[in-house]
Amino acid sequence: TGHRNPPMPWFGMDIGGTLTKLVYFEPCDLETANEEEAEALTTIRKYLTRNITYGQTGIRDAFLEMQKQTIGGRSGSLHFIRFPTSEMNSFIELAKAKNFPHLAKSICATGGGAYKFEDDFKHQVNLELHKFDELDCLIEGIHFIDRNNDKCECYYWKNPGDSKLATKEKFDFRNPYPYLVVNIGSGVSILSVRGPAEFQRVSGTSLGGGTFLGLCCLLTGCETFEEAITLATDGDSTKVDKLVRDIYGGDYNSSKIKLPGDIVASSFGQMNLKERRENATPQDLARATLVTITNNIGSIARMVAVREKVERVVFVGNFLRVNTISMKLLAYAMDFWSQGAMKALFLEHEGYFGAMGCLMEYMK
Ligand code: ADP
Repeated sequence: TGHRNPPMPWFGMDIGGTLTKLVYFEPCDLETANEEEAEALTTIRKYLTRNITYGQTGIRDAFLEMQKQTIGGRSGSLHFIRFPTSEMNSFIELAKAKNFPHLAKSICATGGGAYKFEDDFKHQVNLELHKFDELDCLIEGIHFIDRNNDKCECYYWKNPGDSKLATKEKFDFRNPYPYLVVNIGSGVSILSVRGPAEFQRVSGTSLGGGTFLGLCCLLTGCETFEEAITLATDGDSTKVDKLVRDIYGGDYNSSKIKLPGDIVASSFGQMNLKERRENATPQDLARATLVTITNNIGSIARMVAVREKVERVVFVGNFLRVNTISMKLLAYAMDFWSQGAMKALFLEHEGYFGAMGCLMEYMK
């Protein structure tokens, strides 16, 4: 076709409101590389793919690595790396210290930070950012990874309402259309996807992963997402929320509405009382925050799915990282409130689709 690949190294970067995600394609066919390319790739290999942490805050999710991939006619592995966007300046310093500007002239980037940090990259490390639209990247990344991950990418929760019986089950996502993507990052975007390149952003909410983490830090004094999730795991949200049974004394069954007693009627609705406040632990508050944010997203997703007439709803974004509580809640709520008509789906590479799609765009 006469199409030529862009110069190596091939990175895709998604600079989000909270986390920066980096996907790196490491070719394993170095014998076909020219001398300069081989040298650069060897340097990157020594640093990036032999370590799993970088600087103070960079982490490679080694368990997500995808081997035996073919991109631009080259075979190799895909690596997935993240660090907090608040550390962007140390990251740029690190890139300088590792002589990255000598190895690459340009890098492709998506997410708001591709705009915000464009000048910093240019002036501090002489790197040109090729900017791509984040929603294009997200969808392209989902399709690429789902199709090319030989371990199963897409799954759902069976028996999500029962903590002992709940299991992850494979879902065949090869024929996905139409479906919704609910991307839960700092905020939430909802896309309606009708075909490989046919999609629209149809809704969103500012009450997202950033809200959960922010409120949790305020209410419990915790410092990290991992800590917030650990607290929530040991907490009981019914000490904080007002349930239907707290109001009705049990289930509510009238000719017009039927509500089970354990449904939340008012999130945080018990916290107006001093005594209840004193009895609520940081764990309970963390759990209630998680449940409140998750249920709100689930309920918006469900309304959008009805309006868009779709049955499959794919939840992605780093809010779902190490967060089986929210996944099971979303799965249960989608199923319960739609009388089994809708299915909540999840993807193993959670927050990396934008960065992956960005790399794909670069290859075009
Ligand atoms: P964005 O592109 O807006 O940064 P992400 O998809 O990366 O969005 O998700 C960010 C959210 O993921 C945070 O608001 C938080 O709820 C959650 N999260 C998961 N892991 C971390 C982490 N290590 N540090 C901060 N937030 C995290």
